[in-house]
Amino acid sequence: MIKNDMTTQSRLILSGLIFSTLLIIVIAILAVFNIQNRLNDGYENFGRIISKTLAVETVDLIKDIPKENQYISLKEHSGKILENNDDIAFIEFLDKDGSVIYSSKNDYAKQAKLSTITINSPMITGLLDKKTVGSVSVGLCGGIISKITNTIRTSLILVFIVVWLVFALVILVNSYLTTKELRILKNGVKKISTGEFGHKITDKDVSLEVKQLFESFNDMSHRLHEYEKQNIEHLTLEKNKLEAILMNIANGVVVCNSEDEITLMNYQAQKLLDASEKDLINTKIQNFCDKNGNTCFKTGIKEFKSKKDFSEPSAIDLDINGKVIKTLISKMVQGYIIVLIDITKEAEIDKMRGQFISNVSHELRTPVTVLRTYIDTLYNYGNEFDFDTQKEFIGTINDEIIRLHNLVNDILDFSRWNSDIKLEKDYYNLQEIVENCVKSVEVLAKEKNVIFSVMQEDNLPKVYLNEDSIFRALKNLLSNAIKYSPQNDKIKIKTELARKSGYIQVSVEDHGIGIAPEYQQKIFDRFFRVENDTHTIKGTGLGLHLVKIAIEKHHQGEVFVNSKQNEGSTFGFIIPIEPAEDIIKS
Ligand code: ADP
Repeated sequence: MIKNDMTTQSRLILSGLIFSTLLIIVIAILAVFNIQNRLNDGYENFGRIISKTLAVETVDLIKDIPKENQYISLKEHSGKILENNDDIAFIEFLDKDGSVIYSSKNDYAKQAKLSTITINSPMITGLLDKKTVGSVSVGLCGGIISKITNTIRTSLILVFIVVWLVFALVILVNSYLTTKELRILKNGVKKISTGEFGHKITDKDVSLEVKQLFESFNDMSHRLHEYEKQNIEHLTLEKNKLEAILMNIANGVVVCNSEDEITLMNYQAQKLLDASEKDLINTKIQNFCDKNGNTCFKTGIKEFKSKKDFSEPSAIDLDINGKVIKTLISKMVQGYIIVLIDITKEAEIDKMRGQFISNVSHELRTPVTVLRTYIDTLYNYGNEFDFDTQKEFIGTINDEIIRLHNLVNDILDFSRWNSDIKLEKDYYNLQEIVENCVKSVEVLAKEKNVIFSVMQEDNLPKVYLNEDSIFRALKNLLSNAIKYSPQNDKIKIKTELARKSGYIQVSVEDHGIGIAPEYQQKIFDRFFRVENDTHTIKGTGLGLHLVKIAIEKHHQGEVFVNSKQNEGSTFGFIIPIEPAEDIIKS
């Protein structure tokens, strides 16, 4: 741990400190060793001088003393020397044959044991006739040497400790001072790395190089701050752009993070989910409940997460607040994005298309069955019927063929009119078209004993139109009025100038079953039938859609309906009297 925390510089300082300590120790040991050697040499010289002096003294002392008294004199003399001198361990006098005259080793045995160096000096008489009469051995204990050595060693250790401490202190102070700038720089870099761009570092007592380094650092910090500012502005701009796009696209968009929490949603998504952003942000998408209490996304998200391949979005149709919502879930780097597309209308049309096919089949089967039965009967038993019965049969066959014809025409018109065909137009007397149309449905009206009341405003102008298209539209309105009216009812048809200037209006008023308000917007949609659920009255759901196409697409007019359930309906349209382009010009 410590090793990891240590910087290279600290390691260098520590190694230097250890190395210098070892060096000082080696130097000190060598110095002590050297001093000790020199002291030993000096001490030996000192011993030699003593022994020589003693030899000279002894020659003088014993020259006039008889041999038997020499022992006592030498003993006394030696005793005086030994008692006054701690450093001399023993003194030994030998005659010229090497026999001991006197040795202090017996009298001063304890002191004699301390001897470390022994030095001999010959005893020589006369200056001219030099004669060796014996020798003196002096033993030295070396007490002074060890005292001096100890003192030197202690002093050296003390000096060493003091020097070492001063040295260490100097290194530490120096490294503190040099690393102070580094520390300031390090703190600055740390702040930058945590995103505190623009942070400045200063210190007064710094060298020129460090000052330049600090200036460069501050410059870099300032640039980073500026860059960040620009970047943030740029990012904010981009973010705003993206948000604006996201908020305004027609489909709902919900963004979730990897914890399934909603982080972003656009207006359309709020509309489709019927919930506000503040209620849903940061909540889990799986917990979302629609008005009917369904946790709509739970299963879809589970399925999406269990997928292995995320290259394609998961598509599921969900029922949210009674609407059919196509949901596309795509993976993002973190989390996922859900696109919500309202396909209620398409789903309804799909349903209605299915219903339409069933209705058309039904509508076709009925007349075909009637025709088969009637023709079969006439063919096999025709001779048995009287003329009136035969006529009645043929009348019914004719009616069914007309119904079949109308139905096939409706279907053909539907496919023809839905494509962009150009219809021939001219100026026609609209009232004449109305009267002809009424005539064409009279047979139908008679079946229910319904009577028509046709009214028109005086002096109506001729209208620029396609006769066939308007005739069919009107016929559909009249057929519906008959179909949805009770027996013996009266249907009012009015042609007049519309309130909208330049337009003429035709309306068909009945007193039939009427239409509930919730269906009034939808009845002009293709395949839509109020009776789809009940199947009481036959039909394909195409009639009013064709009216709308004839009036709005072919004649740039408008269709309308006013209806009250169980009271009756007024269907009608307005179309421009002159060509539509002329109206726009004037
Ligand atoms: P259909 O073949 O079913 O009559 P239409 O497009 O002509 O198809 O009409 C659509 C729906 O509008 C009908 O199913 C019916 O419910 C309603 N409708 C049309 N005309 C009338 C009317 N005069 N009175 C009441 N309901 C009507």
